[in-house]
Amino acid sequence: MDQGSCIFCAIVDGEAPASFLHQDELVSAFMDINPVNPGHLLIVPRTHCVGLSDIDPAAAARMFVVAQRLASALRGSEIPCEGINLFYADGAVAGQVVFHAHLHVVPRNRDDGFRLHIDYDSPPPRHELDSAAAAIRAALN
Ligand code: 5GP
Ligand code: ZN
Repeated sequence: MDQGSCIFCAIVDGEAPASFLHQDELVSAFMDINPVNPGHLLIVPRTHCVGLSDIDPAAAARMFVVAQRLASALRGSEIPCEGINLFYADGAVAGQVVFHAHLHVVPRNRDDGFRLHIDYDSPPPRHELDSAAAAIRAALN
């Protein structure tokens, strides 16, 4: 999807409706149209980009700071919020559906039915962790 047909660009530009929480020169935050729980919100860079590594680092940093502030506001609001998940889907295989980078802030409550199911096996041997760390370090920069 290019920038011209991007729903989040349309929202940021005021051409599509949204319930806004925050806007500054780098990021916008608005309510998710199809919330997992009431209060579920999204934070997006104002400049169109698709993937996590495409986000300008200043905007990426701001996204987290705004997430922190809005998560605190959620906890202090009348919306039920016993906990918070931050969720980021980078790529279709990871669950990305809207191809304009965005960070989810999801209020959580006991037995709300939302879960990321992970089958934790026994931990791998140290040499596997060491070799994964080495592969990632080699790819830095
Ligand atoms: P993803 O799976 O890409 O991480 O999540 C995309 C999110 O965008 C979904 O939670 C979905 O409900 C939300 N979304 C999709 N279209 C719109 C829209 O037009 N407006 C708003 N506010 N949220 C949207
Ligand atoms: Zn966009």
